[in-house]
Amino acid sequence: MVETFLVPTLSHPVRIVIGACPDGYPSQGCHASGRRMDTIWLNPASGGLDTETTAHEMGHVFESYMWNLRWEHRPGSEFVPKTFGRIASVLFGEFNSSTLETEVWSEQFAESYSACARLPELSETITGFYGFQMSPEQHDLICPMIDEMGQRYEEASMVGEAESDSPRVRFRRNDTIGPLKP
Ligand SMILES: [Zn+2]
Repeated sequence: MVETFLVPTLSHPVRIVIGACPDGYPSQGCHASGRRMDTIWLNPASGGLDTETTAHEMGHVFESYMWNLRWEHRPGSEFVPKTFGRIASVLFGEFNSSTLETEVWSEQFAESYSACARLPELSETITGFYGFQMSPEQHDLICPMIDEMGQRYEEASMVGEAESDSPRVRFRRNDTIGPLKP
């Protein structure tokens, strides 16, 4: 399914578990970052095998791997906070340095990634969970920035070895993206 995404998936493995999230709550999906790779859970019992859930969780993976690149101090990784900041400005209309620490940012970024992955263009404003709204103009601004980040990630990943700082384990997201299906 990810082969059909219109945005880049990163060349770093992801573990995909088809089953309920570890907390036992019947969410559609969830994401956890790990030291070596991230894991997403897609819960068939809650309708979590749909493209929307997969794309949303892959959006969390994308954000998490971007931060890992930055925390590894890879040369050329300065674009990570900068471009996320630009995306946040487009989403929220304003931006300060703590915006990128918030859950609402991560969730709205995952929704943005999902919209860009699934929809080549928008004909009207779409809404999603976590207060997400995206106009056709916002779509046209944000999706190319995500593409560009994917490209720069690959370039920066090629440059030298990472310093041994292990990536921080910071992300744990439990998502109820749509109505729970029986
Ligand atoms: Zn989420």
